[in-house]
Amino acid sequence: MTEPGLRFANIESARQRLQGVAHCTPVLTSRTADALCGARLFFKCENLQRMGAFKFRGAYNAVACLEPAQRAAGVVAFSSGNHAQAIALACRLLGSRAVIVMPHDAPHAKVAATREYGGEVHLYDRFREDREALGRELAAERGLSLIPPYDHLDVMAGQGTAAAELIEQVGPLDVLLVPLGGGGLLSGSAVAARTLCPDCAVLGVEPEAGDDGRQSLRAGRIVHIDTPETLADGAQTQHLGVHTFPVIAALVQDIVTASDAELTATMAWFAERMKLVIEPTGALAAAAAFSGRLDLSGKRVGVILSGGNIDLARFSALLANTNRAHAG
Ligand SMILES: *Cc1c(COP(=O)(O)O)cnc(C)c1O
Repeated sequence: MTEPGLRFANIESARQRLQGVAHCTPVLTSRTADALCGARLFFKCENLQRMGAFKFRGAYNAVACLEPAQRAAGVVAFSSGNHAQAIALACRLLGSRAVIVMPHDAPHAKVAATREYGGEVHLYDRFREDREALGRELAAERGLSLIPPYDHLDVMAGQGTAAAELIEQVGPLDVLLVPLGGGGLLSGSAVAARTLCPDCAVLGVEPEAGDDGRQSLRAGRIVHIDTPETLADGAQTQHLGVHTFPVIAALVQDIVTASDAELTATMAWFAERMKLVIEPTGALAAAAAFSGRLDLSGKRVGVILSGGNIDLARFSALLANTNRAHAG
């Protein structure tokens, strides 16, 4: 195994760049949750991060790392989710320009939010056009820097600051549970944990319908899958990245899954018991903790609640159909 490309020093530099810009998000605890799991759980509330998810950390770090001339020219990102809004906000704060490539049928609220943060939305027809090719074309034509949502060292370093902060806030952990899509958050968290509490087991949690990360870890290579059908829209990735995979393979103990039913039950639990709104992807790590499938007894467990961006109508519809048997 080659030495992973992401180093703890990169995360420390990212923390300095984010100082006074990103929120140091609160860590919440619950005696009820502890009793359910027979463990001590520490919930890192990135749903309360600026723009509603940890993605702000990586996006801001990556834009801040651009050369002044690149920053002046602007940034392009393709995403209909949290990364797009994070890039738009980061660019506004750093005096850069964001062009976000989104499908023409993206939810109106997401297009509006991206524009509100100052991003220029470039709509494309997702049945007839290839967004990656379009992104590259725009980058070439207009001299923009393309910042991908996870497979980028500066993005990974920024995402790792959440776990670093958590460990600093609560002390050493025995287990750290991290939602997994393309692996920016997981790779950054694993590098942070290896330095700050080397005995901590770091586990990724991905949707049951799309366990490419688990398959990749077992196979020792990046496994590609079709876009999974899951409520966890922030983790509908088809494969890990060439930068995230080696770090995950070297430092992550295991990758487990949570079902959509477990995600909605977990969202309901947080709304009711902790007065927190979390989006389905943001509930992955907590759903794994509540599942009973992990041996957490007597352990100190960090749980990253990665985001809270969900349309209110969708949130209430999901909660109305929840099978409460899955959590609490
Ligand atoms: C993007 C995202 C994830 C997954 O992060 P990766 O770095 O792609 O693994 C998890 N939760 C939320 C809320 C996200 O927006």
